[in-house]
Amino acid sequence: MTEFRPLVMKFGGTSVEDAKAIDRAAGIVKHRLSRRPIVVVSAMAKVTDQLLATARAAGAGDRSTALQLSRALRERHYNAAGELLGTGVFTQFHSELEADFDSLDELLRGISAVGELTGRTTDHVASFGELLSSKIVTQAFSARGINATMVDSRECIVTDNTHTRAVPQFDETNERLCQTLKPLVRNGCVPVMGGFIGATRSGVTTTIGRGGSDFSAAIVGAGLDAESIEIWTDVDGMMTTDPNICPDARRIRVISFDEAAELAYFGAKVLHPATLLPAIQKNISVYILNSRNPGCEGTRISARAPACRNAFKAIAAKKRITIIDIAAPRMLMAHGFLKAIFDAFDRHRVAIDVVSTSEVSVSLTVDSNEAIPALAGDLAKLADVKYDGRKAIVCLVGENLRQVRGIAARVFSLLPDVTIRMISQGASEINLTFVIEEADVPEVIRRLHTTFFADLDPEIFD
Ligand code: ASP
Ligand code: MG
Repeated sequence: MTEFRPLVMKFGGTSVEDAKAIDRAAGIVKHRLSRRPIVVVSAMAKVTDQLLATARAAGAGDRSTALQLSRALRERHYNAAGELLGTGVFTQFHSELEADFDSLDELLRGISAVGELTGRTTDHVASFGELLSSKIVTQAFSARGINATMVDSRECIVTDNTHTRAVPQFDETNERLCQTLKPLVRNGCVPVMGGFIGATRSGVTTTIGRGGSDFSAAIVGAGLDAESIEIWTDVDGMMTTDPNICPDARRIRVISFDEAAELAYFGAKVLHPATLLPAIQKNISVYILNSRNPGCEGTRISARAPACRNAFKAIAAKKRITIIDIAAPRMLMAHGFLKAIFDAFDRHRVAIDVVSTSEVSVSLTVDSNEAIPALAGDLAKLADVKYDGRKAIVCLVGENLRQVRGIAARVFSLLPDVTIRMISQGASEINLTFVIEEADVPEVIRRLHTTFFADLDPEIFD
């Protein structure tokens, strides 16, 4: 008998934010029971932020603020559970939630007494978000006739001890995932796990980085060789551009992992594809789906892009950019000069997005931030430095850039009146990126979108 391949369904914070959302999630899972789902949930929307604020208050010795914040969280979770479960079930389950919140409060009292917040205690506090949401979701699913079982992710996801961004240890994790989840799924159970959290080999709670539930879903999917992974969120998928700028922006049906990664980097906020890598490497398709509109087929992210008639898949813009121009007529190509420049950026912990160089100058873009004046002061010891804010990066993405001739000419001929400050075509050859004034973004995006997304390949776009 060939081994079955389960379906991993991850519900993000907004898809479990309250009783209504959890009820919708139950309906969605019910429709897919024959595909043997494993469910991964985020904390209810904003809960992780609130838990971290609570931990910081405790760490600053402000016990009463910490406990007050925790009381609000307690109420929100009780309300959701109460609304989802009948009185009988809720009364039983209530004491379990109560025990969790009591131990959270005990932890907060301990942290305030010491007045110090370590990475380890931060993770312990943050873990309550996913712990609680997974418990409530499991109960709600059971009450709706789904044979759901909560699985504590700390028993499966093994990480190192780099608290707040712990690194999964894949061999051990995969072994435990198979041992724990396969028998459950084989018996018709729907395992429900909290994303984002794990534990070290010795059982100390860890978290794998903010937004980490997508990563958890990819780890589970890769570990069990899932048929596919569904990321349930609150948008219909990835769009050809920002619909606030272009109301005629369209949904992208299928996009390659590399294209999605370029878009995430330049401002598409749906998810960070890097977290999907474990699944993509195993050629497992990932779908972005809308839990408020489950009939919509969403966006599929696949390892390789299918052929597409159009030059581009999407246009993204990233605002609040500063250009730093460094001119050193005699020094630029001298050995070690670029290194000295990059070292300065490193010292000031400023990340660079786009770089372009000429024989006598180098221009770089960074997110506008307070460190820039000091950085520029440092760089001025090496060369002439100017910086200029209120810029934006526009990024056109598409695998076809590799093949189609004359694309750059077509793009820039549409913008004869626009000041282009920098141009870069990435080594990956799937993005064409340039820098303009922030104020020009809406007009530039509209012109490009109107031209390049007029006659769309129906296989690729909605
Ligand atoms: N709850 C975690 C966070 O907000 C993980 C996630 O939702 O992906 O970062
Ligand atoms: Mg998220």
